[in-house]
Amino acid sequence: CGIVGAVSVSAEGTPPVDVVLDGLARLEYRGYDSAGIAVVADGALAARKKAGKLQGLLDELEREPLPGTQAAIGHTRWATHGAPTDENAHPHLSGDGRLALIHNGIIENFAKLRNELLADGATFASQTDTEVVAHLLGRTYAGDLTAAMLEVTKRLEGAFTLLAVHADHPGTIVAARRNSPLVIGLGDGANYLGSDVAAFVSQTKSALEVDQDQVVTITGDSVSVVDAAGQPVEPRAFTVEWDA
Ligand code: GLU
Repeated sequence: CGIVGAVSVSAEGTPPVDVVLDGLARLEYRGYDSAGIAVVADGALAARKKAGKLQGLLDELEREPLPGTQAAIGHTRWATHGAPTDENAHPHLSGDGRLALIHNGIIENFAKLRNELLADGATFASQTDTEVVAHLLGRTYAGDLTAAMLEVTKRLEGAFTLLAVHADHPGTIVAARRNSPLVIGLGDGANYLGSDVAAFVSQTKSALEVDQDQVVTITGDSVSVVDAAGQPVEPRAFTVEWDA
C-alpha cells in the first residue's frame, strides 16, 4: 500500500531507517493494516514487521533496534492475499534469507508460481502473493540484482511496485513497477524511492518519474533506469510542489 526506500552514501545526514519511518508516517493517509522495514547491515539482512498501526512497529524497533545501515526499505500493507498478521506483513524474504522484498499491488498468477516453487522444494512463511516474488528473485539472483528483477518481472502478471535489497549489496535498492506507482527522489549523497512523493518529500523536492515496466537501481550517488528490455532510459525530472 505505502512504499518507501532510502539509501545514502555515508552515515552522515538523516539515517535511511529514519527517512523510511518518516515516509511511512506520511503515507498513513492511504490506510493500512501492517507495517515493516528491512535493512542490510554487516553483510546480512535485518527485518522487523508487525500487524497493526505503525506505532506497533516503532515499539518493536525500540525493543529490538535495527543496526545502522546505508539502505532501508519500508512498507505499509493493505492485505489482499492472506490475513493481516505479523507473518503476512512485508518485507518477505527469499529462501536463503539474503533478499528482502516489499510489494504494493496484486500478483494475479501467484498461485501457479507458488505451486511451481512448492514442487521445487520452496517453503513459505506467509500466505501472501508477494512471498512468491521474493523466492523467485532469490532463486534467479546470480550476483546482479537488477538483472534478476528484469527477469522475474517478465514472469509476473498483475499490478506491482516492488523494492528489493540483497545482503550482497548493502548500498543498493532495486525497484520495478507495473500498473502501480513508483517515483524516485534525488537527494544530496542520498536517493529515495516511494509509491508517492509523500514518501520522501521531507528530504527532497527533486524527483524522477518511472514509466510502466521500468526497473530502477539506486545507490546513494547513482540512479539508473532501464526499460523491460534492459535498455537505459532517461526518466523525466519534475519538482515536487508541496510544503512538507
Ligand atoms: N498483495 C500484497 C499483500 O496482500 C500487497 C498488498 C498491498 O498493496 O499492500 O500482501
